[in-house]
Amino acid sequence: MHCPYCRHPDSRVVDSRTSDDGGTIRRRRQCPQCSRRFSTTETASLSVLKRSGVSEPFSRAKVISGVRKACQGRPVSDDQLAVLAQRVEEDIRGSGQAEIDAHGVGLAILQPLQELDLVAYLRFASVYQGFESLDDFEAAIRRLRDEGPASS
Ligand SMILES: [Zn+2]
Repeated sequence: MHCPYCRHPDSRVVDSRTSDDGGTIRRRRQCPQCSRRFSTTETASLSVLKRSGVSEPFSRAKVISGVRKACQGRPVSDDQLAVLAQRVEEDIRGSGQAEIDAHGVGLAILQPLQELDLVAYLRFASVYQGFESLDDFEAAIRRLRDEGPASS
């Protein structure tokens, strides 16, 4: 980790503290060249394996942009999308996986999206679950109707 003040390419850890929930580690570092101190925060990385075989860091922004398309014209606010993306990340992290494929991310989106907006859910599910015919839509709609009287 290089020094943010003088860009010296190395730094020394002088203190490490784990957060209460164990999810992050905060380190105090000191630069051996200019002697200034700075902090870093370390969290377990969560990566998404894309269909191309390339993995990239999990991004809430990408979850939001994917879901936003399905929500076009629906009464879903940006705040609700942000909460949904946070929940998706927490669910995936909570499952203990360090890497998940793009399809797995899509599946993790389905449940919170179903609770948010059923039309958006159907649009999204039709892509991620590869609906091929009206039968697939019918089956999904039947399941939604069975699950809750609020569905219409
Ligand atoms: Zn320095």
